[in-house]
Amino acid sequence: WFGQKEYKIVMVGLDNAGKTTILYKLSLGEVVQATATVGSNVEQVRFKNVQLEIWDLGGQQNLRPFWGTYFKNTDAVIMVVDSTDRARVGVTKSELFNLLESEELAKTPILVYANKQDLRDAMQVEELTQALQLHSIRNHDWHIQACCALTGDGLLDGINWIYQRTK
Ligand code: GDP
Repeated sequence: WFGQKEYKIVMVGLDNAGKTTILYKLSLGEVVQATATVGSNVEQVRFKNVQLEIWDLGGQQNLRPFWGTYFKNTDAVIMVVDSTDRARVGVTKSELFNLLESEELAKTPILVYANKQDLRDAMQVEELTQALQLHSIRNHDWHIQACCALTGDGLLDGINWIYQRTK
């Protein structure tokens, strides 16, 4: 992961998107230390020189005033999406755009993981790009990466995209 410097990556998404699965797949079986910081909605995980802060979005309104404190010094944001969850893609979109308005995240690149691509009814990257209106993102470098957290397909491609923008 990323050489010498310390990195802070915030991973967000609705519950059931696949964040925990991605975390453990990326950590390649190494033991990671997780600490819940605010209720069960935020987790801090250290892995090598990367600090991951993991947020379950949705039902998160009460924490929103504190986002600023948490998101300080963030190098990148990963938004994990369950590509089969058509019912909540609208919620995901508004949570994403809420997040992008946070001043502390003004300059961070945004990686969207279009997760669960192994499932037959998964939205493809193009459809998800439309549904999340990613093209309307201004002032953020963004990228959408198809992936499957179960097999790990696509995960490192996404991390590599972030890496290219943080070094
Ligand atoms: P979180 O709430 O965002 O942390 O989501 P989890 O990592 O707990 O995953 C929620 C559920 O989706 C679990 O049952 C996972 O096994 C499943 N899941 C996660 N990623 C994938 C994937 O790429 N494909 C499939 N088929 N299931 C997945």
